[in-house]
Amino acid sequence: LYAEGQRRYVESLSPYARQFVGQVPKPVFERIEGLAPAVAIEQRSTGSTPRSTVGTLTEMYDFFRVLAARLGVMHCPDCSVPLGVQTVDESVDRILSVPEGSRLLLLAPVELKVGQTPESFLAGLKAAGFVRLRIDGTTYRIDQNPPLNRKRKNRLEIVIDRITAKPSERSRIAQSVEAAFEAGSGTMLVARAVDDGHGNPLAEADWPVEVHSRFLACPACGQGFRPLEPREFSFNSPLGWCEVCDGLGTRTGVEHQALVRDASLSLFEGALELWPDLSQPLSRAMLEALCTATGLPGDVPLNELSGLQQRVLFEGTGERWIPVPRLTASDGAGSRLPAKTPPASKPEAQAEGAHALKPEAQAEGAHASKPEAQAEGNR
Ligand SMILES: [Zn+2]
Ligand SMILES: [Zn+2]
Repeated sequence: LYAEGQRRYVESLSPYARQFVGQVPKPVFERIEGLAPAVAIEQRSTGSTPRSTVGTLTEMYDFFRVLAARLGVMHCPDCSVPLGVQTVDESVDRILSVPEGSRLLLLAPVELKVGQTPESFLAGLKAAGFVRLRIDGTTYRIDQNPPLNRKRKNRLEIVIDRITAKPSERSRIAQSVEAAFEAGSGTMLVARAVDDGHGNPLAEADWPVEVHSRFLACPACGQGFRPLEPREFSFNSPLGWCEVCDGLGTRTGVEHQALVRDASLSLFEGALELWPDLSQPLSRAMLEALCTATGLPGDVPLNELSGLQQRVLFEGTGERWIPVPRLTASDGAGSRLPAKTPPASKPEAQAEGAHALKPEAQAEGAHASKPEAQAEGNR
């Protein structure tokens, strides 16, 4: 049964996937009925990237993504209730809930169809009577050759109406909402002109945008959602991957426990594995300077420090510089040496010098190196 199940399963795969799954000879039966294909793959290391999983190798992952995106029931991430339809009236209520007098753009998201040229797309909009198009957050008049690039994937929205949020405008707003849902296949975006909090108007591209939906709206909080796409279920797409590990499933960082020598000791007694250790005057001076500058008590056992104090100790205080007093010649160390916090918490930081003192910089570096990994890792 196992052999026949696997044989049928392997038959359903593409030639590419088949090479990874061993061929099984046909069993010696004339006929086997009612047997569901079984998923059985040998466990072995193919020496590939963490982006390669049983799901990607067998290509089942592609089908699951489509299944989830097309047949899944969307829920509101804030209220955990299934999304449902929203009437135009409810949408208008939401629009009018912003401060009265706000200037709003009612937008219908659109896309170039496969094979459609920007010229024919714009001509189509013009023929339908639309005047303005928003491209990546900036509004252009359609008759003034807006910068549409077919190679770049622009975010395109038809400007259906420019309105002022006033109850007296209700019927006009309702008409425009209906038109926006019509043009946007059930999705409408509302961009609101705001200032930076000091009276300076923000650039249009920075205006907050609210999603409204005819069919995918939360019955509890009212917010709308765009239909999900398969790539939003992919850990190989920035749209779908976990933001903490970028879809790799693992993450490099510092394990706090590895830095602690004995949590029942205080910092001055040597609770942490420091390099060099506290018998070195410079190391001692840096720890003392850190305690003075941050208010960390150096004489309290490590396991009695508060959560906040532990955070300062292990995660640092950002970009703040902490001066370490000049050591005298008898201390056996050099001149004044500014150290970034927390010198105590990052042995590897000290070993590698300035580069490692910036955890953010490392994080960015890791990100920057990702794209190649994706490209090759998709299988
Ligand atoms: Zn909700
Ligand atoms: Zn993750």
